[in-house]
Amino acid sequence: MNYQNIINEIEDEIQVYFKEGKVADYIPALAHINPNQFAMSIKLLDGTTYNVGNTQTKFSIQSISKVFTFTLALQLYGKSLYKRVGHEPSGDPFNSLVQLEYENGIPRNPFINAGAIVTTDTLLSKYQDKSFDYILDFIRTTANDFTINYNKEVYSSELEHGFLNMALINMMKSYKNINNDLEKVIQTYFKQCSIEMNTEQLCHSMLFLANHGVNPINNKILINEAKAKRINSLMLTCGHYDASGDFAYKVGLPGKSGVGGGIVAIVPGKMSICVYSPKLNKQGNSLIGTKALELFTTKTGLSIF
Ligand code: GLN
Repeated sequence: MNYQNIINEIEDEIQVYFKEGKVADYIPALAHINPNQFAMSIKLLDGTTYNVGNTQTKFSIQSISKVFTFTLALQLYGKSLYKRVGHEPSGDPFNSLVQLEYENGIPRNPFINAGAIVTTDTLLSKYQDKSFDYILDFIRTTANDFTINYNKEVYSSELEHGFLNMALINMMKSYKNINNDLEKVIQTYFKQCSIEMNTEQLCHSMLFLANHGVNPINNKILINEAKAKRINSLMLTCGHYDASGDFAYKVGLPGKSGVGGGIVAIVPGKMSICVYSPKLNKQGNSLIGTKALELFTTKTGLSIF
């Protein structure tokens, strides 16, 4: 299959959608990002990479970071992690508070904000003040790129305006589902969200999920096969919040989005794909990114179904 031709075609075909969607302005540092950007990278298990658009432009990975922190927490705690965070889709927006009230402060899954704040809290219990360095180091290892860092402006902007996330963490604390200092947990959470990567780096970093937990390029085992399966399952069912069903229906791949405009998708046994375009749909997922992935699985037949 000529992947380069396919993604070039996709770049042409998505142009009509640039009128739609809007960038995430609830984080002021993201409000002034150029909305008309598009990038798409594909990385096959043998490392062959195909790029189109601004694939060297870095953007904050935002909720895509939830995949990394969940991987680390699952590695550390195994099944007992599910006492603190579930594995069911929520059907609610990514920053919703409502369900915490009737489920005793246990978030539905690790890919909504409340769930990711809990997985970060579990990492703090073990790594304390070294937690962020540990997360960053893991991401650098998965991407095999030690230049990756977080964006201080995005971090401060989130910290200053993160009232809803503060409400989530306080509510979970009231149900005794947060064990560490609230400020430290939320700071670590915002820092991981503000980590910057480009589509090529993100493709590389997630390739282990297309290969049963082993990075196929350097053969590093990042998680065992059974857990890699679980992470992919949750990406399929929960990776796009209250649009997870829509994403599964249209794209048919495990995927994880972030309000920075990135989406990573996995074709098990074959490749990782990353798209970037900062305008979002109303559920907070990249509008053009979703279209591009839908076009990709339609043209190639490479969905899991
Ligand atoms: N940092 C963002 C927030 O907490 C992440 C949300 C997202 O990417 N959906 O609101």
